[in-house]
Amino acid sequence: MTSEEKETQVADDRVVTIDYTLTVDGEVFDSSEEEGPLDYLHGHGNIIFGLEKELTGMQVGESKTVLVEPKEGYGDVDSEAFFDLPREEFPDDVPLELGIELEITDDDGEMMFAKIVEVDEDNVRMDTNHPLAGKTLQFDVTVNGIRKATAEEIEHGHAHFGDGHQH
Ligand code: ZN
Repeated sequence: MTSEEKETQVADDRVVTIDYTLTVDGEVFDSSEEEGPLDYLHGHGNIIFGLEKELTGMQVGESKTVLVEPKEGYGDVDSEAFFDLPREEFPDDVPLELGIELEITDDDGEMMFAKIVEVDEDNVRMDTNHPLAGKTLQFDVTVNGIRKATAEEIEHGHAHFGDGHQH
């Protein structure tokens, strides 16, 4: 195989351009139709592991449907990621309704997102799992381009774009 042939296939240290639609529980969660095609550096964990693995060896123009189980996606739902807070700890302007998402700070000062999953007379139950934890992810992907990464991109571990340096 010549080096030119190799660049028609997705492999480590290549910048790959993909179009994708992510469907979860039968509903479109995210799509490059809205966000634009995604450029990423293959082999550096820039995208979900279960998807990156399946893209290896694909060719330009090739499409595939990839199902990613939680363990290779956003992980299983962690029962420890739920906690209760007394109602009075919430500011008055926060509606205590199911599904409301809040940015909260934990005891160590770390910011995280939490969703209200239960409300009773005294307490509000919050869930800090990733919204896609426990979900099987369906990616419909098409490989639209492959190029060799620059030494700088490989060193940084991500793709660079045009004249800019996007981090
Ligand atoms: Zn960089």
